[in-house]
Amino acid sequence: MHEVGMMQSILDSAVERAIQEGAHHINGVHMRVGAASGVVPDSLEFAFEVAKKGTIAENAWLQTELVPVVCYCANCDLEFQPVDLLYECPQCHQPNCELRQGKEFELAFLDVS
Ligand SMILES: [Zn+2]
Repeated sequence: MHEVGMMQSILDSAVERAIQEGAHHINGVHMRVGAASGVVPDSLEFAFEVAKKGTIAENAWLQTELVPVVCYCANCDLEFQPVDLLYECPQCHQPNCELRQGKEFELAFLDVS
């Protein structure tokens, strides 16, 4: 389950940042997760429970914000939300358009004390 590893590294840097800021506890972690990141939100919750054990984030809540997929077509200079995984432009039907948003797996902010 790769979510655990991904969550572990996110939490590692969160803990590091919190300690640098002089915090003693992480109360909450807010994350941005892209719809095309390949991460399953349900397993994220589980991964968080595993990763936070024994850290200063032990009692922290997790909030995830789902970021929708946005593509860009260079032909039409158009940004669009793809209907499927082909990322096809709705105007010129060019496939595999550039993914501008939706692969996020990142820390948005921390609630520390
Ligand atoms: Zn196009």
